[in-house]
Amino acid sequence: MSPSRYQKQMLFAGVGLDGQQRLAGSHVLLVGCGALGCVVADTLVRAGVGRIRIVDRDFVELSNLQRQILFDEQDVAEHLPKVIAAERRLRCVNSEIAIEPIVADVDWSNICQFTEGVSLILDGTDNFEIRYLINDVSLHAGIPWIFTGCTGSVGQVMPVFPHDSACLRCLMPTPPPLGSTETCDTAGVLGPAVNVVASFQAALALKILTGHAHEVARKLTIIDVWSDSFRQVDVSKLRATSQCPACFQGERLWLHGSQKSSSTILCGRNAVQVTPPEKLTLSLPDIANRLLAVGEVVLNPFLVRVIVSESYGEHSLEITIFPDGRAIIRGTDDPALARILYSRYMGT
Ligand SMILES: [Zn+2]
Repeated sequence: MSPSRYQKQMLFAGVGLDGQQRLAGSHVLLVGCGALGCVVADTLVRAGVGRIRIVDRDFVELSNLQRQILFDEQDVAEHLPKVIAAERRLRCVNSEIAIEPIVADVDWSNICQFTEGVSLILDGTDNFEIRYLINDVSLHAGIPWIFTGCTGSVGQVMPVFPHDSACLRCLMPTPPPLGSTETCDTAGVLGPAVNVVASFQAALALKILTGHAHEVARKLTIIDVWSDSFRQVDVSKLRATSQCPACFQGERLWLHGSQKSSSTILCGRNAVQVTPPEKLTLSLPDIANRLLAVGEVVLNPFLVRVIVSESYGEHSLEITIFPDGRAIIRGTDDPALARILYSRYMGT
């Protein structure tokens, strides 16, 4: 560790030499390297967090550059996976840090290997299925995590200290119904909104990693950069009053794989079918309305079809969604890409 690099941070009373040494000895997992993940990774690498494992399944696209601060046009031209592009950039920022990039789709079968050895999990994801999985693994392994989300101009952050503070299921017993929430791909997102909440998450991470976890307020923070509002909800009593099955009955629906979406390649059809964790009854007109931002939409009583206007490499894609939540993504035989698109447009 080069002390002069961190001089200004060590001058700050909350960090000091002891805190800086703790940061250097820390190992964290960042799940997702999109807009939130980029800011968090950049901040923690500059701050001297010794080891950062970053897992993401996506690749860099032109539409990411508006807010995903670790990427540039060269990464788009090279079609690089986000974690590989991030690693290249982060190594230039601070070569003292051990960066572990992993290109993978995080799910119940592999998450435990990603949390091995880490003391904090950071949420850089854009979907609730993975957040509930992180919540399960946090409670299972006793590792704190920081829930963070951002859509439009609004972001929210809540730290979770397992078996101590409210968990995600204490706050929301079940994920929002599929297709019921806006996503960054249907409602858009402002770069400054992401930067504010991601920085807030990074500050909480520094506080926890420097040994000040007990000083972190048990609050859900909601920031709207467009209506200039900052709001905090006290969740310190929520766990005790929630009767949360994850906290008190050891229920781990996501970690045990009983709540997961799946994808199947439809042979010879250049298409992949994605099936949600449970059967749903969707409002097709609502879905159709939301997908107007994505491309040309066709609605009939049986399905919604959208021809995606954004191009994905050589892929020209068409997504068909049925009332039970099932979708067929035509134009690819790559299940990973199909799952990415499904979560983008359906908000899982
Ligand atoms: Zn709980």
